[in-house]
Amino acid sequence: MLPVDDIRKKLLTQRRDLFRQAAQTEEELLWFQSDIESEVEERGQEERMVQLLDRLDERMKAEIEAIDRALVRIDTGQYGRCEQCGKAIPQSRLEALPAAALCMACAQTGEKQALLRK
Ligand SMILES: [Zn+2]
Repeated sequence: MLPVDDIRKKLLTQRRDLFRQAAQTEEELLWFQSDIESEVEERGQEERMVQLLDRLDERMKAEIEAIDRALVRIDTGQYGRCEQCGKAIPQSRLEALPAAALCMACAQTGEKQALLRK
């Protein structure tokens, strides 16, 4: 059995850290544009999250999406299975990369295909 509770905690921590990086950028921005600070404070939490997401680059957005998908797979009991071939992903790979959706073989095939497309 996979330690899904530990993995879920790890995923949520990673997700929070990614958002925190965006929040730091926002604070820096507010420091330079302090006149809009009160306006920002009145906005809802939801909108702020969307703003934070906007500040993340594509790579970080992709990471958050991968984390969200992994969290859904935990809830549906699909976690730990390769999205492509359906085989079990080794626990060592999941511990190193909790958001991994593919087994090593499928991930490597995907990388090769990406290289050939260039
Ligand atoms: Zn696979």
